[in-house]
Amino acid sequence: MTESIRKMYDYLVIGGGSGGLASARKAASYGIKAAVIEHGRLGGTCVNVGCVPKKVMWIAASIAEKMTYGYVKDYGFNVTPDDAKINWGMIKKKRDEYVKKLNGIYAKLLDKADVDLIHGDASFTADGNVIVDNKDVFKAKNYLIATGGYPTIPKFPGHEHCISSDGFFELEELPRKTVVVGAGYIAVELAGVLKELGSNVTLLIRKNKVLRNFDSTISSLATENLIQAGVNLMTNTSISSVTKNKSNGLLSVNFDVNGDKRESINDVDKVLLAIGRSPSTESLNLPAVGVKTDEHGHIQVDEFQNTSRENIYALGDVCGKALLTPVAIAAGRRLSNRLFNGEVNSKLDYENIPTVVFSHPPIGTVGMTQEEAISKLGADKIKVYMNSFVGLYHAMTAHKTKTTVKLICYGEEEKVVGLHILGSGAEEMLQGFSVAIKMGATKNDFDNTVAIHPTSAEEVVTLTKEHVVKLE
Ligand SMILES: Cc1cc2nc3c(=O)[nH]c(=O)nc-3n(C[C@H](O)[C@H](O)[C@H](O)COP(=O)(O)OP(=O)(O)OC[C@H]3O[C@@H](n4cnc5c(N)ncnc54)[C@H](O)[C@@H]3O)c2cc1C
Repeated sequence: MTESIRKMYDYLVIGGGSGGLASARKAASYGIKAAVIEHGRLGGTCVNVGCVPKKVMWIAASIAEKMTYGYVKDYGFNVTPDDAKINWGMIKKKRDEYVKKLNGIYAKLLDKADVDLIHGDASFTADGNVIVDNKDVFKAKNYLIATGGYPTIPKFPGHEHCISSDGFFELEELPRKTVVVGAGYIAVELAGVLKELGSNVTLLIRKNKVLRNFDSTISSLATENLIQAGVNLMTNTSISSVTKNKSNGLLSVNFDVNGDKRESINDVDKVLLAIGRSPSTESLNLPAVGVKTDEHGHIQVDEFQNTSRENIYALGDVCGKALLTPVAIAAGRRLSNRLFNGEVNSKLDYENIPTVVFSHPPIGTVGMTQEEAISKLGADKIKVYMNSFVGLYHAMTAHKTKTTVKLICYGEEEKVVGLHILGSGAEEMLQGFSVAIKMGATKNDFDNTVAIHPTSAEEVVTLTKEHVVKLE
């Protein structure tokens, strides 16, 4: 039986998140008739349960930090650590309103671009069309899968009592006592926010350090900073169960340490699992159209975002590579340039993607880690410069945190292949340096750049031979 087609498009995008919206709007700018199918709130993970609400909470936590560490007082203001009690309900309400406003802005932008918005759950049919909510069938010349991902929840006994990062954004009050599980950037960021805002936080990690895929210096410092901030860091652990006390609703978290010793943390308000994300592919009926996935369900694509099926493309988190909003956006725009504007070589270069961890203090990183550079380029071919210092901000404060900058250079001309910064302001510092690195800047170019004084960023352009790290 042939399917009755409700509407025909040039470009049908499944997923109204960062990548899908960007690609659909770009396509429409070339006169292409496009539609976006979205089963949730417009804007996807970033806007609703990711970057945007997370950054709001990180800013709140950074303000609290200024009071709890006495920085405000150190600069002559009569504010005590007790004044750092957040009105969680108030900031949550404002944050939710802001996110709602963004949802509306995205809807208006689609409308203005003449992109149709179809609400519902999309999957492929046996005929290679797309069906929404199992009733309306749409056909297109080209399809884009930009369905993103969702937090992975391991199925240990009691997992249903736990929350994920999605649940963090639904919390109506600051949990008094929290256990966060995970060592990646989302676990580090949310553990930091909860701690700085006043929760008693334990972080359970599987190995001995957080952010283990970052440069080893950054990973070690980030781990130390969490401990210094008062997070109860428990290493070499594996969560085994969570039980709920029926009388008071509080949770007990049971976990193994070093593979055998059993330990528990009791009277916990919230257990937040941030152990990774899974791609949203299960309900798409991909086998019907022969789109191949890897063993984790990520859609396999080539460098041009082509899947294994002609005229079906995929990008963003669902492909499992560089899970970042600007990556999904850039890949989406470039794909539309290629498909609909004749730019046959348009594709995203996944090299040197800068990224920031909103920890306390934050981390900015681009390019190769020292370990990667040694293994790919050889220890004898690379030169590493590193400086750790106390910024001027802390000259006036009793409690001090250090800033560390590390520059990885390659070959005789000392091409900069990696930059890693941990310290106050790193989140804003990195973008400009990333341009230089992407353009192939050398250490000499950095040396020839006049410093901006007094800033921490100037330390990146004033590294000398005294800062060279001896590689083992
Ligand atoms: C807590 C957290 C913090 C983050 N912080 C940052 C950050 O600071 N900076 C940064 O760059 N990135 C951050 N990210 C990552 C960023 O949010 C993602 O990389 C980005 O949103 C990926 O975009 P996407 O278009 O691939 O997917 P998404 O934005 O997730 O969009 C996918 C959309 O598809 C929809 N969808 C899925 N399946 C279907 C279906 N079958 N039918 C219809 N619709 C469907 C979903 O509802 C969703 O709206 C963060 C993520 C999290 C979870």
